Amino acid sequence: MNVLSYAAQSASGDLAPLALERREPRTDDVVIDILFCGVCHTDLHLARNHGGFTSYPIVPGHEIIGRVRQVGAAVQRFKAGDLVGVGCMVDSCQHCQPCLKGWEQDCAEGATYTYNSIDRHDGMPTFGGYSNAIVVTEKFVLTLPEGMDPAGAAPLLCAGITTWSPLRRWNVGEGSKVAVIGLGGLGHTALKLAKALGADVTLFTRSSGKEKDAFRLGADHVVLSGDPAQMAAVAGRFDLIIDTVPYDHDVNPYMPTLVLEGVLVLVGYMGPLGTPVNAGAVVRGRRAITGSFIGGIAETQEMLDFCGKHGVVSDVEIISIQQINQAYERILKSDVKYRFVIDMASLKS
Ligand code: NAP
Ligand code: ZN
Ligand code: ZN
Repeated sequence: MNVLSYAAQSASGDLAPLALERREPRTDDVVIDILFCGVCHTDLHLARNHGGFTSYPIVPGHEIIGRVRQVGAAVQRFKAGDLVGVGCMVDSCQHCQPCLKGWEQDCAEGATYTYNSIDRHDGMPTFGGYSNAIVVTEKFVLTLPEGMDPAGAAPLLCAGITTWSPLRRWNVGEGSKVAVIGLGGLGHTALKLAKALGADVTLFTRSSGKEKDAFRLGADHVVLSGDPAQMAAVAGRFDLIIDTVPYDHDVNPYMPTLVLEGVLVLVGYMGPLGTPVNAGAVVRGRRAITGSFIGGIAETQEMLDFCGKHGVVSDVEIISIQQINQAYERILKSDVKYRFVIDMASLKS
């Protein structure tokens, strides 16, 4: 089927309109008319080939909310008209140990990602949500809870699950002390989720001026990470730190702020850390630095249902698809409160 999209053709080029073919629906497929798509920092990393593994053309977008247009004959959970979501993955092998545990993101054969990936059945490239429609196997389609604002829900499909998964993995609840590094798309969602889970929540930020927003979004405390006195004042405080910083940075200043056996979870950056980690900071106090990658499909539905129950959605700035290149520049300057979401109706104009 023919769809209209926005694509990058090279690491240095702007995104521009591109007509492309999506597969005809297979029996287990759901055809979704896309209403909104969030703009994740990963879209920017991949469009500009920061990781060195982008195939062009690339159609980014993995925070997708849409309405079901049509379903294949074997589809059971969805019908035309349903509001649904699609996140970072559209398929996985379904039989390896991680898949059987519900960790499709860590599929031993490699998950099929929503874009910049190869469909495991027909060998064709996958294209993401900056598009008017997408075709996705039923297993990877999420149900939007009743009454949830579709634009605000879109970022939950990546920013939501990526921060929810470590919060759950490390059993955050009443009495937990959680800190989040960086107030962007992931960070602001992490504040909201940690607060809704009952934790005492702190934001570490480089940026003075974000305090008021941070408190509104769920932070109980704000620490300017560049101020040594403020950092010293939170020594030995946190059970869990979720680090959303998207570029190389020094994690050492955060380690003393963990309790004994406290854990810093990297979710924002996947490259080599330029500043060596001081082993003393993890050896003494049995502290850990670990990481977390998106989350499984069942866990994503659990997060959406939790958000539906607790009234959690992202704070979004709605843009047209024609504003996407400016939006990328603003993301680089941390000038977004706190997630851009594309109104896909704009694709028609
Ligand atoms: P974002 O909206 O741009 O937010 C990142 C925040 O980090 C900024 O608002 C800023 O907060 C802080 N920051 C930015 N540059 C920094 C720097 N050079 N040094 C220190 N702090 C900096 O990005 P996002 O969409 O939340 O994504 C964050 C990262 O997570 C991206 O790299 C993305 O690719 C990655 N990601 C990973 C997963 C996963 O599965 N692990 C999933 C989704 C996204 P302050 O101004 O408050 O300091
Ligand atoms: Zn993302
Ligand atoms: Zn698998």
